[in-house]
Amino acid sequence: MSTAIATTQLEELQTAESRLLVQTYGRYPVELASGEGVYLYDSEGKRYLDLLSGIGVSALGYNHPAITAAITKQAETLIHTSNLFFHRGTTEVALRLTEITGLDRVFLCNSGTEAWEAALKLARAHAGLLRAEGKQIGTKIIALENSFHGRSIGSVSTTHKAAYREPFGPVMPGVEFVKHNDVAALKAAFSNEVCAIAIEVLQGEGGINWISEEFLATARELCDSTGALLLFDEIQSGMGRTGTWCAYQHFSVRPDVTTLAKPLAGGVPMGAMLCTEEAARAFKPGMHGTTFGGNPLACAVAIAVIDTIKHEGLLAHVTEVGTYFIEQFNELKKKHEAIVEVRGAGLMIGVDFHSADVAKHLHETMMERGFILNRTHDTVLRFLPPYILTRDQIDIAIRTMDEILTTMPSLAASNLAGEKAHG
Ligand SMILES: *Cc1c(COP(=O)(O)O)cnc(C)c1O
Repeated sequence: MSTAIATTQLEELQTAESRLLVQTYGRYPVELASGEGVYLYDSEGKRYLDLLSGIGVSALGYNHPAITAAITKQAETLIHTSNLFFHRGTTEVALRLTEITGLDRVFLCNSGTEAWEAALKLARAHAGLLRAEGKQIGTKIIALENSFHGRSIGSVSTTHKAAYREPFGPVMPGVEFVKHNDVAALKAAFSNEVCAIAIEVLQGEGGINWISEEFLATARELCDSTGALLLFDEIQSGMGRTGTWCAYQHFSVRPDVTTLAKPLAGGVPMGAMLCTEEAARAFKPGMHGTTFGGNPLACAVAIAVIDTIKHEGLLAHVTEVGTYFIEQFNELKKKHEAIVEVRGAGLMIGVDFHSADVAKHLHETMMERGFILNRTHDTVLRFLPPYILTRDQIDIAIRTMDEILTTMPSLAASNLAGEKAHG
């Protein structure tokens, strides 16, 4: 296939899409055609080292035999049943998810937003149950600045970025945003009017920011004092991404509710809301549900993903290569003043730059050179590679970033004077 023809095809695709699809996405001018392991190939046959996994989804990479086998087998057997009937997959998934999270019960759905929506509804219903039992508890929800919880009206209500929330107003009332890691502000905002505190243990979209142990412990104490629920959104940070099944397992604090999604079924859409026995009391049959949620296909793949992570020792691998990746980024930071900070754990890493221009240049040049990554929060390059990434592949990525940073004198100089473009 000649490059010229392929380019024309991409341009035609872009034109057609621009007429036919609701214009919700700004896409990179690349048409991905296939994948193998940690590599993606575009329609011109160019190979990319994938350091993003389709935003934290393809944790086992592409064409993983366990996933392909699970999909094929299940497609030949039964894809969908509705939730009017039993099938074994939901229980098999729930057994695994309760084991790895330490929570008691599972609600299966189809996306992160839907899992988070279930968590919010559970918190409101649980407060209603407590009121019916004579307790004084309100309906307010505390969320954090810089948070991202999804795109439904409920989820955007707890998402801090105004551009995601304000065009859709009035969104769900009763949400108060508290400054990230500001323990005093959390205490001041809390009262028995609050039914839930919502936390991303490691913020993703917001630029890879850790919550502090002190903030978590305070939130736990406050919730325990009234019966409010502590909700952890682990949609991006969960399922082994940081080297533990959930990012909260790096701390001693445990949630009442957690949400999982992105890598849960290796690219087949699936979300899960997990909760304690106490919280689960709030949902009675018929109160909440989904047509597709927990269908046999998604369940078969989730089982394959979880079992593969276990059998291939991928949590330990993520910790090992993730620690190495972060060390290498910190070496780069010593060499290049353009880098302000390296954050994260395992294979959820943010590299924060002095200026959005430098981050943008590096991002674009890396893409040209065959590396897929993402820029979030203007100045942060975000790395969410497949768990099967190797040290050699990390070395190549670091070497390329080093070269690009070394050969961009004008931007490198301007970043020293430049202000941080956080917003
Ligand atoms: C991606 C994400 C969501 C939303 O998930 P979708 O599957 O896109 O609906 C919610 N919370 C966090 C932390 C996320 O990273």
